[in-house]
Amino acid sequence: MSNNPLPNKERVKLPRQRMPEQDAQVRACNFLEVNTGFTAEQAHEESIRCIECNKPGCVQKCPVSVDVRAVMDFIVKGDYLGAAAKVREDNALPAITGRVCPVEDQCESGCVLGKKGEPLGIAYLERFVADWERSSGQFGLPKSKAATGKKIAIVGSSPAGLACAGDLIQWGHQVHVFEALHELGGVLVYGIPEFRLPKDIVAFEIETLRKRGVVFETNVVVGKTVTIDELMQDEGFDSVFIGTGAGLPRFLNVPGEHFNGIYSANEFLTRVNLMRAYRFPDYDEPLYPCKDRDVVVIGGGNTAMDAVRSALRLGAKSASILYRRTEVEMPARVEEVHHAHDEGVHFEMLVNPVEFLADEKGNLTGARCIRMELGEPDESGRRSPVPIPGSEFVHPAQVAVIAAGTTANPLIQSTTPGLATTKRGYIKANDDTLATSKLGVFAGGDIVTGGATVILAMGAGRKAAKAINEYLLGPAVVAVQLAAESLTTA
Ligand SMILES: Cc1cc2nc3c(=O)[nH]c(=O)nc-3n(C[C@H](O)[C@H](O)[C@H](O)COP(=O)(O)OP(=O)(O)OC[C@H]3O[C@@H](n4cnc5c(N)ncnc54)[C@H](O)[C@@H]3O)c2cc1C
Repeated sequence: MSNNPLPNKERVKLPRQRMPEQDAQVRACNFLEVNTGFTAEQAHEESIRCIECNKPGCVQKCPVSVDVRAVMDFIVKGDYLGAAAKVREDNALPAITGRVCPVEDQCESGCVLGKKGEPLGIAYLERFVADWERSSGQFGLPKSKAATGKKIAIVGSSPAGLACAGDLIQWGHQVHVFEALHELGGVLVYGIPEFRLPKDIVAFEIETLRKRGVVFETNVVVGKTVTIDELMQDEGFDSVFIGTGAGLPRFLNVPGEHFNGIYSANEFLTRVNLMRAYRFPDYDEPLYPCKDRDVVVIGGGNTAMDAVRSALRLGAKSASILYRRTEVEMPARVEEVHHAHDEGVHFEMLVNPVEFLADEKGNLTGARCIRMELGEPDESGRRSPVPIPGSEFVHPAQVAVIAAGTTANPLIQSTTPGLATTKRGYIKANDDTLATSKLGVFAGGDIVTGGATVILAMGAGRKAAKAINEYLLGPAVVAVQLAAESLTTA
């Protein structure tokens, strides 16, 4: 029975709750989180908007099928810990996805309220219950099953790897995560800035896994420090999960791309986030200064938005997005684009750099750009940009950030004999199990799909964990375990 106090016809009249946020002028000068989170009153008001559809489109559109309806019912009755536990059944990292999921393409796009008005604020509520759970001090560690004696190596400590580790430790395996960088969390830490995803939230999830027994080792570049074969043959790992993402930057390949002041978005954001340029002067600023300079960011995705908004916060005189299509085609999350506009980012649409210009010392002075118009749709379904002859102009810039996408780093693929890859260098994995061509080796997340989303990577990590468990124990053992468990929980 529903706990919602209102009849459906009253619920649909309720306005969507607005996410409180820092004032745009203030936040453009600091790295504190932009969205400050729902109050309990707001969470209640928003949750009672759910009309509890029989066939909830939000669940169908969620890549990991969170039972939104059940979660809302917990929130309506004020049981926020119950709500958080319900979300965690399907989503291992709710405080993170509640902040970064592109909900307009996922759960909220399936909400029936969105047909005539605004959809339910599902991500805002997911974030609310996860934050409540974290700050309540009542975050219980789930009890793991009896030790199986099996050892699994996980390569990469971002959503795919963390989600995989969480399930495998739960099922009684020994889990060892190897991370190339000196800090854990991958893109969640070095890519997505503090003002969108505070680092202590990622640290909390990692610490929780550590308390549950997961061993983390940083500064291990698998494929160089140790190979996959060595992990399995010499170090006794029974299985390996590869969740190494797609972090190799793509460049524009135009003249002058080597000048001082030009970065890939990956390097720029790593310097800002991981090397703490955002905490200048507490930390030495390991970055060509943005202060009082014109900064251009080339691209239209989340990475481009994160880079341009970081540049603004580092004191740029102007911070501009140069994008070769229009705002409609931009892949970035709608909320980030709104926020960037409000903060004063300049959007220069339908332009593409054809050359970078520099002074005699090789320091960047500008980007020669050409204007574009939209032609026929390309293979992505979006109308392709076509240069307009004779429309070239120079955009002043002393710092440029290239956010033109990423691809797979070939290191593991090239040092692991028998690991099949696609033409583009991504690892081939079975759709259902994420098993690769190499026995005992599984892969998931961006390294299989190409650049995607946090929740898809997390879902892949969990799918692989299930398959690894069955590979190691065999379906018969897993069935016996489940039957025994049902006896103890009945
Ligand atoms: C700046 C930026 C902003 C984004 N914003 C959003 C957003 O708002 N919403 C959203 O849903 N998605 C967003 N994404 C995409 C999302 O972050 C990725 O799809 C997701 O992180 C992929 O997860 P993954 O676990 O597959 O790989 P990654 O997150 O890339 O993690 C791979 C991990 O493996 C490590 N690694 C790589 N090679 C090795 C090796 N050889 N040995 C050991 N470790 C290795 C890396 O250091 C890293 O820790 C964004 C991406 C970026 C770059």
